[in-house]
Amino acid sequence: MNLHEYQGKDILSSFGVRIQRGIVAKNANEAVAAAKQLTAETGTGWHVIKAQVHAGGRGKGGGVKLAKNLKEVEEIAGQIIGMQLVTPQTSAEGKKVHQVLVAEDVYYPGETETSEFYVSVLLNRGTGRNMIMYSTEGGMDIETVAEETPHLIFTEEIDPATGILPFQARRVAFNLGLEGTAFKEMTKFVTNLYTAYVKSDASLFEINPVLKTSDNKIMAVDAKVTIDDNSLFRHKDYLDLRDLREESAIEVEAGALGLNYVDLDGNVGCMVNGAGLAMATMDLIKQAGGEPANFLDVGGTADAARVEAAFRIILKDPAVKAILINIFGGIVRCDRVAQGVIDAYKNMGNIEVPIIVRLQGTNADIAKKLIDDSGLDVMSATEFQEAADKVQAVLA
Ligand code: GDP
Ligand code: MN
Repeated sequence: MNLHEYQGKDILSSFGVRIQRGIVAKNANEAVAAAKQLTAETGTGWHVIKAQVHAGGRGKGGGVKLAKNLKEVEEIAGQIIGMQLVTPQTSAEGKKVHQVLVAEDVYYPGETETSEFYVSVLLNRGTGRNMIMYSTEGGMDIETVAEETPHLIFTEEIDPATGILPFQARRVAFNLGLEGTAFKEMTKFVTNLYTAYVKSDASLFEINPVLKTSDNKIMAVDAKVTIDDNSLFRHKDYLDLRDLREESAIEVEAGALGLNYVDLDGNVGCMVNGAGLAMATMDLIKQAGGEPANFLDVGGTADAARVEAAFRIILKDPAVKAILINIFGGIVRCDRVAQGVIDAYKNMGNIEVPIIVRLQGTNADIAKKLIDDSGLDVMSATEFQEAADKVQAVLA
């Protein structure tokens, strides 16, 4: 589950991580009220208006703007809320902005120069350990830093038994070139950030930029947070943080039906059991000259109800020109799946697109006969290649 910047910052703050303070607003009036409140609480005269969408690179797309007075707050908030924000991380049509974070300006001038860093906590799948990844090159996207100046990215692996140790937090602050107050602030920042990551069962906390202010405070200016879905049962309070408007509507619906569905750009709908077979099926479709329209794992119990649910989800995509059902009957018997396909097909009334069913494994022969004798406009196949040829034929 991905969070908005303001939600991520709330979690950080609750673990003692210093943040750029802000208040969420849904319209220009609320934005002005938020700005007034922030001025009263922090003394800031300037505010940054930040689009709240699940995508990075908002600054580049015009979704982060500085307002130097209340009139500008009103203007900029009015302009950003409701816009389709296009950033390097969104599709070409962009994402609709429903709300903004009105934040205090923290790049004020002072005794020292401000500087921006990159700090994230994530799982290193290679070692199976959490690590802190950090860089002096804050504010830029980390992929570019990794490509152009990889020596400026550092990592600190954390032993799960001990958690982050004081010398590790000091090493981060040292490698970032800090000293004095800022050095101490950074050790505290990193330690609390790591605690927030572990305690919230996150799979990512990416803070870019982490800012050293002109008076040597270290704070999170941005927060990209992903909570591990598998942990949500023990974070009931986080369930409210989910913003379904940010997710693909069709994926949300599939999820509610217990289907593993990922929307893709192609023309052949896939219904498969098992993620590995689903991926092999997508390869097969490509080889046959098609493009998969989706990834769909119906799971182990491919009965009529699930097959029907899967049909309905796949057919919501107008780009689908054919459906390939590829089921391996290991635990589930192929004849049951075949019956499921036939029942679902009859239930659905009229399915316009050609359907190719490949059933292999237990009772595959009975299944093929069921499909062939059903009188329905469904093509059966037992071999992979045969299924590919049939896909190719219907696309031609
Ligand atoms: P992103 O573009 O989606 O990553 O959004 P960020 O939250 O990282 O903001 C983008 C950029 O806006 C930052 O890299 C900063 O340079 C700038 N920014 C953020 N907060 C302030 C602020 O308080 N004052 C000023 N002047 N710039 C800010
Ligand atoms: Mn950022």
